[in-house]
Amino acid sequence: MQMTIALAGNPNSGKTTLFNALTGARQHVGNYPGVTVEKKEGRWVSGTREFHVVDLPGTYSLSAYSLEEVVARDFIVNEKPAMIVNIVDASNLERNLYLTLQFMEMGANVCIALNMMDVAKKRGIFIDIDKLASLTGLPVVPMVARTGKGTDHLARTVATHAGSRPEPLKISYGRDIDVVLDDMETRIRSDHFLTDRYLPRWVALKYLENDARIMEAGKSHRPETHDWLVSAAKKLTRHLAATLDTHTEGMIADQRYGFIAAILKQGVIAHTWDQNRLVWSDKIDKIVTHRFLGPVIMISVLMALYQFTFTYSEIPVEWCEGFFGWLGGRADLLLPGGLLKSLVISGIIDGVGGVLGFVPLILFMFLGISFLEDSGYLARMAFMLDRVFRIFGLHGASVMAFIVSGGIAGGCAVPGVMATRTLKSPKERLATLLTVPFMNCGAKLPVYALLVAAFFTDHRAQVMLIITLISWAGALLVAKLLRSTVIQGPATPFVMELPPYRLPTFKGLLIHTWERTWQYIRKAGTVILGISIILWAMMTFPQLDADTLAQLNSGDGSAVVSEPMAPGAAALKHSIAGRMGTALESVTRYAGFDWQTNIALVGGFAAKEVVVSTLGTAYSLGEVDPEDSTSLARRLRTADGWGPVTAFSLILFTIFYSPCFVAVVCIVRESGSWKWGVFSMVFNTLLALSLSIVFYQTATWIMS
Ligand code: GDP
Ligand code: MG
Repeated sequence: MQMTIALAGNPNSGKTTLFNALTGARQHVGNYPGVTVEKKEGRWVSGTREFHVVDLPGTYSLSAYSLEEVVARDFIVNEKPAMIVNIVDASNLERNLYLTLQFMEMGANVCIALNMMDVAKKRGIFIDIDKLASLTGLPVVPMVARTGKGTDHLARTVATHAGSRPEPLKISYGRDIDVVLDDMETRIRSDHFLTDRYLPRWVALKYLENDARIMEAGKSHRPETHDWLVSAAKKLTRHLAATLDTHTEGMIADQRYGFIAAILKQGVIAHTWDQNRLVWSDKIDKIVTHRFLGPVIMISVLMALYQFTFTYSEIPVEWCEGFFGWLGGRADLLLPGGLLKSLVISGIIDGVGGVLGFVPLILFMFLGISFLEDSGYLARMAFMLDRVFRIFGLHGASVMAFIVSGGIAGGCAVPGVMATRTLKSPKERLATLLTVPFMNCGAKLPVYALLVAAFFTDHRAQVMLIITLISWAGALLVAKLLRSTVIQGPATPFVMELPPYRLPTFKGLLIHTWERTWQYIRKAGTVILGISIILWAMMTFPQLDADTLAQLNSGDGSAVVSEPMAPGAAALKHSIAGRMGTALESVTRYAGFDWQTNIALVGGFAAKEVVVSTLGTAYSLGEVDPEDSTSLARRLRTADGWGPVTAFSLILFTIFYSPCFVAVVCIVRESGSWKWGVFSMVFNTLLALSLSIVFYQTATWIMS
């Protein structure tokens, strides 16, 4: 059987010239059925191979704006050619690749016939063919159609690749669009909406692009799905207008050009091109992604973000704490003493307040990150870091998830895990979402603050820096480990989009910031509330009987407990949590942790926020304000078994052990399997325990 090969490309890219060179006299001209667009077909004989070649109308895009575009698109969908030879004008690469990218998105089998190599050469444009091929994942054949140069090479390439079914290209259209696109794709797939002919994601994209033809077909196919898709697309349109002051189609085109720009910037082309719209962006990029200046600028930007977040959030954080302090005070006054009061104050107000107290910090952090993202800078950061991340089996786009989780300091693994959605390769995504919990989220910071203040008073900044470095090194090394064992597989050669810079709108920033902050608040309102109550119960029941309490209160505790301790601590040790902590001591003492620390760490699994407050209770201080931990610090310094070694061992453990419960739930949801949730709890805790034990044993041995 003869294979059908379609020639496609922009007008004037040399399609007809190539068609003539290939088919010679063996061609005939007709019309596409029902339309006046000319259809040329012919036979291409090369050696023993023979192909049936069709010259598609020249187009710049595959929308439904012109008859030519519709004809070209329909031909590809209906006739399913064994291969599309995409003629690309080498002297105008960027604009031509726009069409190529759309073929790739359709999942069509494409090869690039890079034509007009002579013109490109004359204009001083040098193209790295191999690089272009590896970055696009397509075969690339350099040619000069006018002289017939390259046609043999093209014949060999077509013979080798014809009939294969490549994975359709998935590019990121930015977070706003990606989320909606995913939803639409899922719905299209489950409703089998037009899927007999088109890919679900492609149909979704066409709805976003307002493609009249597809929407017409969809409406008569399944009106309900059609209506749902239209309203999803409309909602997105309004969202984009409000946040980024742009419309969906413009954004889609920007991201497509961004994808191409990123390919070309990786050394594919050794000559600047000037597409008017991109000139400015390009000039900025020359500096911002410069080999030496780039990283310097990146570090400065991160430092600025850090400064901004911590400086401006300080006062509102105080307000928040003041509010919960006041609330606790009111409850103290209004409620009669006893279990109910203890539940309301220690269980509910302290637990939920501990999380909500961080809201201003999270808010400012996300405001800064939204600014970097909306302006387009974050894409540049990812672009620069890609090389480093690849070494560890991750992807440049992973950086966003790490930063959101607390890569700089302060953040939350919950939105961090969700931020991995922008990663297109499933393996790199999984490796990222399993390692983001190692970052230093806003809830771990008070633990460090307490321990550093107590034991490393003179080296605060250095120790904080070391903590940050350890968590990054740990995350990267574990990612490498996972990628070479349980999530094995070659790196996916994805290209990151470099869309043009834009000035973020104020309103857009507010909406994006709020969306993320809300995810965090919802966690406090729902899961944390339940967990706080469970924890409170675990730390309260079973209660000591009245006699024992009376003896403790009279100061004669030695009668009931072996070591001297305050009534609060004795009650705690008697509780379920206390018993767990004591049982765990047989293992954790090799890392230097006593039962009080264990209770705090068990509580920390529910939410890292409770570690400090639980330590406070365990060390008999009653009320401890997590921010003002000086008194607890003083108490720890004089406590038995505590010293810099124990403190650092606990810091190490806190960095690496199981993500909090909510993060685990998130990991399960995003990875699509509860197994990865269990894995991250077990693996991380074992890793943390081993590191702490090794550190503690080595350090005590050296010091002795
Ligand atoms: P089409 O619109 O894609 O069918 O393009 P044509 O085949 O009509 O070519 C447009 C113009 O480019 C014609 O003048 C061709 O002679 C010229 N052309 C085609 N291929 C080459 C090439 O490889 N090098 C040069 N210098 N000119 C070419
Ligand atoms: Mg032509």
